[in-house]
Amino acid sequence: MLDTIVNCAYIAACVLFILGIKKLTKAQTARQGNFLSALGMLIAVVAVLFENDVMASWSADWVMNGYLWCAVAIAIGCAIGYIWSKKVKMTGMPELVALYNGFGGLASALVAFSEFLENPTGEDVISAVAVGSTIFVGAMAFTGSMLAWGKLSEKITGRAILFKGQKPINLVLALVSVAAIVIFAIPDFDPQLKFIAILVLSVVSLVFGFTLVLPIGGGDMPVVISLMNSLSGLAVAAAGFVITNTVLIVSGCLVGASGIILTVIMCKAMNRSITNLLFSGFGATQSSASKGVQAEPKSISAEDAYLILEAAQSVVFIPGYGMAVAQAQHVVKELAAKLEDNGAEVNFAVHPVAGRMPGHMNVLLAEADVPYEQLKTMDDMNPAMAMQDVAIVIGANDVVNPAAETDPSSPIYGMPIIKAYEAKTVFVLKRGKGKGFSGIENELFSKENTLMIYGDAKATISSLAGEFGKE
Ligand code: NDP
Repeated sequence: MLDTIVNCAYIAACVLFILGIKKLTKAQTARQGNFLSALGMLIAVVAVLFENDVMASWSADWVMNGYLWCAVAIAIGCAIGYIWSKKVKMTGMPELVALYNGFGGLASALVAFSEFLENPTGEDVISAVAVGSTIFVGAMAFTGSMLAWGKLSEKITGRAILFKGQKPINLVLALVSVAAIVIFAIPDFDPQLKFIAILVLSVVSLVFGFTLVLPIGGGDMPVVISLMNSLSGLAVAAAGFVITNTVLIVSGCLVGASGIILTVIMCKAMNRSITNLLFSGFGATQSSASKGVQAEPKSISAEDAYLILEAAQSVVFIPGYGMAVAQAQHVVKELAAKLEDNGAEVNFAVHPVAGRMPGHMNVLLAEADVPYEQLKTMDDMNPAMAMQDVAIVIGANDVVNPAAETDPSSPIYGMPIIKAYEAKTVFVLKRGKGKGFSGIENELFSKENTLMIYGDAKATISSLAGEFGKE
């Protein structure tokens, strides 16, 4: 009877996860999707407690009381999750996701390790391979994600760090890991050697996560996060095989598959292959694009910019990371409404990797109630860019950098960009001479049709909107 209830709960949890992911694909239903997935997780956790008979482990001796330890763990986890999610800024979300991926990987590796400690001889080949693979993928996802977190949060340099013999070293680490898994899985093999194999596997996998992510940097980091997400999903699925838990297998596969799909989509958006991204060390060196920047950018005041905007029939906003930093989305919406009242056609061109996480700009603009029909993808907007009277670049840099099209030595060469430079007039809103995430110069700023409006994006947009009310 209990088994049937537990299995039904697992099925319900899996259905909720799938519905949750489906609803997360649209901004309108994303909150609901999050709620359904969280509910699925709650059901899964409670079902696991029943399945493992924790509920029967009531004891007057508090050290032996299963209820108590589960309650303490849940309370600590909930408190950390709640405080963190309240405190995290939108711009810090990718770092948070990196940490989640890392701890997901670590948790899976620990599950497999505890299974190994219970059954150190690894007699059943399939379970032994599952234990070894979980430790391998989980440990790799842990250190790789921690390094990605360090790079994204700028605790260490965000650039690609190349080292001599990087590819052969990675190959050796991968081969040693496979050999260790094979040794552990050979039936009737020396138990001591099996023990050493698992220890070696654990250490080598941890090192492999580092050496894999170290040579990746700059604009490639979002793809790494998504790849690590996929790896942590695979680790969870493998852990599900280790402890024969259906809900772990299903949820791990969902995360693994959606992570890899997102990785492929982002690679396409950057015109890169996964192997090129992992092994080419792009972003390690300063681009020669900086040498090509000759003319001093021209700047203009918000008052003068207003005169051009007032006459514009078509205006496209191109938001980037700086809009998120300035939290300018609400005033941007206000300016867009005033431009529309003035008779201009207004659109927003959203680059797939603008900001610091996929969908970052869409989330901010949706929060400000910008109508969905005004949100255009890069592919939809680029063909119409030359027809735009004014392009307003709000704290975007890399995603409008023409070096991606013109300079083969640039770290972002090949990444599709929003062709802001084709608009009749381009306003670039930024605080000063700060570079973008890739750390390279941007020749858009010195183009003939570009005018810089220096200052915090929110203050600049507020001044522009204010000018419309003055007459
Ligand atoms: P960039 O990081 O290239 O540029 C942001 C610009 O915003 C800077 O040049 C900065 O200049 C300006 N800025 C910062 N604060 C403000 C402010 N308060 N007001 C006005 N301007 C401001 O941003 P993009 O969105 O163009 O590109 C995103 C980059 O991040 C890409 O390289 C992408 O690959 C990478 N990335 C993307 C992720 C994703 O998933 N979307 C995740 C991780 C990285 P100044 O200092 O002079 O003001």
